[in-house]
Amino acid sequence: MHRPTQSVVDGSKASPKDLPSIDRLLRSSTGAALVAEHGHTLVAGEARDLLQTLRGRARDGTLLATDLLSEPLGAALQARIQARLAPKLRQVINLTGTVIHTNLGRALLAPEALAHLAAVMAGPNNLEYDLDSGGRGDRDSIVEELLCTLTGAEAATVVNNNAAAVVLTIAALARGREVIVSRGELVEIGGAFRMPDVMKSAGARMVEVGTTNRTHGRDYAAAIGPKTALLMKVHTSNYAIQGFTTSVDESELAAIARAHGVPLATDLGSGSLVDLARWGLPREPLPQEKLAAGCDVVTFSGDKLLGGPQAGLIVGSRATIDRIRRHPMKRAFRMSKLPLAALEATLRLYLRPERLERDLPTLRHLTRPLEEIRAAAQRLLPAIAQALAPRYRVQCCELKGQIGSGSLPVESLASAGLAIGPVQARGAGRALETLESALRALEQPVIGRISEQRLLLDLRCLDDEAQLLSQLPALSRQLS
Ligand SMILES: *Cc1c(COP(=O)(O)O)cnc(C)c1O
Repeated sequence: MHRPTQSVVDGSKASPKDLPSIDRLLRSSTGAALVAEHGHTLVAGEARDLLQTLRGRARDGTLLATDLLSEPLGAALQARIQARLAPKLRQVINLTGTVIHTNLGRALLAPEALAHLAAVMAGPNNLEYDLDSGGRGDRDSIVEELLCTLTGAEAATVVNNNAAAVVLTIAALARGREVIVSRGELVEIGGAFRMPDVMKSAGARMVEVGTTNRTHGRDYAAAIGPKTALLMKVHTSNYAIQGFTTSVDESELAAIARAHGVPLATDLGSGSLVDLARWGLPREPLPQEKLAAGCDVVTFSGDKLLGGPQAGLIVGSRATIDRIRRHPMKRAFRMSKLPLAALEATLRLYLRPERLERDLPTLRHLTRPLEEIRAAAQRLLPAIAQALAPRYRVQCCELKGQIGSGSLPVESLASAGLAIGPVQARGAGRALETLESALRALEQPVIGRISEQRLLLDLRCLDDEAQLLSQLPALSRQLS
């Protein structure tokens, strides 16, 4: 394309003056094709950056004359454009053993939810339009009836996430007044969400009662005064207090609340809509039980055990939900049509509870039989061992996984997978890090976990073995 095109001596260095102009690069055959495909703006910008980088290398004496031939130059420009257009948010393969992994996007959406999302978002929809009357509708109405059917609530509303649901509930019911909560339930969920701070940000004064391990009904009753606006229970979703403990359950607390004319709210965090004990999993409290026990309002997440999109679900009595819905913050926290479509489709799956473990990917992963996971490990072992030889040794192993996302923190899920260890003891730590980052660098990154000098790949959540296998040649290349 430029001066050195004719006869470059192999290994000869390029100098800055050998670089083509932007214009010349854009008029080369690859450059012109890229402009035709992507337009001038992007390609010219990337060409400028590329030439700048090459100029720096030429000055440093690390640029070869052959790097400036039209083919490598065009390929470099194309690679830059591809990298620029590649999305940051990508699918990964979760082999961490934690099924609902907050850093990996929590619950997986069901195919029905994805299909509904795509179908409804492709055009206008009746998000806030009542098709019966032709008048203005309420976006809550899209899921309210379903939520009432599934939980037995009189009314329901939804916001962006459960943190917003809790803040909104407290702000609407107790702004400028007092909320009574047990010292055993002052939960922190990942950094910024801490119950005392949540109360403060909602404008309520938190009144702690009881002790870390024991809180009694009389503690709540004694703390209720003229400024009390709300009694609050918080599910200790990511820790457990064991030993000499007492807490007050919702039915006892509801009686106290009612006797004093104060509402009772419960934040469940995960809040499964179905009893997981049915599949031999540890039990999580259900919103329907809490309502039946006398709670006026229950909040829970959409993307934890429910298996849907990020959402905060608020169910309860008509009067309480009306107060919450009327609060100005509701407008700020309202759900967008995208997760709302996914939430509606997910909730509909619960109308057919017998099919849930097939219909909800997250529940399917949680209930996957151990035998099946072991068999997957056996199947994958030879190919993975071969791809990682001779530097690493691979074995099938039994593992302990987790439900994740703060659900059921103490229990672990019996699982299975592959354990990969460096063959040489010297530099083993470094070898493991190299392997871990090579797995992350794959087109569809594979995320495992390191434990006791081995990289563990828990296969519970692996749906597509062929996809993993197809990346092994690239992995071998990365490591060589
Ligand atoms: C997870 C959790 C929340 C926050 O829910 P998000 O949907 O992540 O906002 C609040 N309270 C409890 C008890 C939780 O476990």
